[in-house]
Amino acid sequence: NAQVNKLTVIEAYGVLEADGLVSARQGAGYFVNSSSIPAPQSEPTFAPAQDVIIPQQRSISFFDVYADSMLAQTQKGVINLGCGFPRPPESEDLRRIARRAIADIDTALFNYDLPQGRLVLRKQIAQMLVWQQGLQVSTDNIIITSGSKQGLSLVMHYYVQPGDWVIVESPTYHGAIAVLENLGARVIGIPMTATGMNLELLEQYLGSHRPKLIYTISTLHNPTGITTSQVHRQRLLELAEQYACPILEDNAYEGLNFEPVPAPIKAIDRQDLVTYIGTFSKTLMPGLRVGYMVVTGKHYRPLVERKLLNDLHVSTVSQAIISEYLASGHYRRHLNHLRTENLQSRNAMLQALERYFPQEASWTVPNGGLFLWVHLPSQLPMEMIRQEAIAQKVVMSCGSLFFPDQKGYTAMRLNYSSTPAEIERGISVLGQLLKKYL
Ligand code: PMP
Repeated sequence: NAQVNKLTVIEAYGVLEADGLVSARQGAGYFVNSSSIPAPQSEPTFAPAQDVIIPQQRSISFFDVYADSMLAQTQKGVINLGCGFPRPPESEDLRRIARRAIADIDTALFNYDLPQGRLVLRKQIAQMLVWQQGLQVSTDNIIITSGSKQGLSLVMHYYVQPGDWVIVESPTYHGAIAVLENLGARVIGIPMTATGMNLELLEQYLGSHRPKLIYTISTLHNPTGITTSQVHRQRLLELAEQYACPILEDNAYEGLNFEPVPAPIKAIDRQDLVTYIGTFSKTLMPGLRVGYMVVTGKHYRPLVERKLLNDLHVSTVSQAIISEYLASGHYRRHLNHLRTENLQSRNAMLQALERYFPQEASWTVPNGGLFLWVHLPSQLPMEMIRQEAIAQKVVMSCGSLFFPDQKGYTAMRLNYSSTPAEIERGISVLGQLLKKYL
């Protein structure tokens, strides 16, 4: 039990601070500076230099991928760098809040409720979006949905008919591609760049294919972690206006940014072209299934009707728990806590990648969210690597899942919501496997 003199520790922090590696926050302690983590040596490549993807067929269903991740969740000792599970909130807080929330289960929560969601929660969400996102919205612009996934599906079905063209980023969230395919849409994958989707290609395809919807994850993009720049957002909206093409802005990772991010595209939407969706899944509890849409103008009522036709409304109990959590004042504190923990884990992952991954690999350095994206220049048997990693109790997601055609692009998505120790072990296993096959 070696003891270190406190003064030595304080002195050490002083040296780290002078080097810009940590900064002191009064009353809170020392924090690792996100900018102190070295960027990867090679200029990161975010996606293979592919052209626009118009898929013919896909091989792996969303259902199988989802079932797989549920299985990984239940197995003991598995390091999950694959699926998008968030960190859970303090269970004590949660229990207390949930108990309080359901206190009036026999009265207010007992009956059916409005399809657009409970008034009190819509009010809280509107307020939160004002302070957190700079969105000028009111209670009457909010529709509470069963996770953002339901919002995504409702909006896609509202704007898109079978056979219509739809633009997505490539790579993008595989759950969105699955919905589009299921409804018979034809998907166009526009390559992602470091600042958002390639706008020249977007413009070209808006002109040639007249798509019915653009789907974008503008902030902390799943799977790459990229945040679309301010300039890019502005231009994307201008193009959408020019071609009268609605935008679905999916902000599932809102509130999980380490440093400030630009306001959502919805904040500069003057023609009601943008539908915005958000969720409490990534910050609180995915199991409660509470998300929301921000809808303005003439689209509000038809979308509420669709929600009603779909499942009447989100569980009143789930809504009440979220509402109580927001009212308790714990939410901001919890977000700060999540950001600090996620930042530490992201940094641990970056350090482990430098240490264990082959030189040829490059990766994104996300400003928040849960994922980073690793790209490998040569073709590797990624599915085989994934299976071998599972045998060693490490789960990752193959990059090909996130491309509209699911072809074997050599990339992987890594989730950094595990502890730094788990991350170190998981990355060392993956690094060894990659080196074996390179
Ligand atoms: N959008 C994106 C980009 C996601 O990553 C996810 C979950 N992985 C969702 C939507 C759906 O999340 P939920 O329905 O739990 O809000």
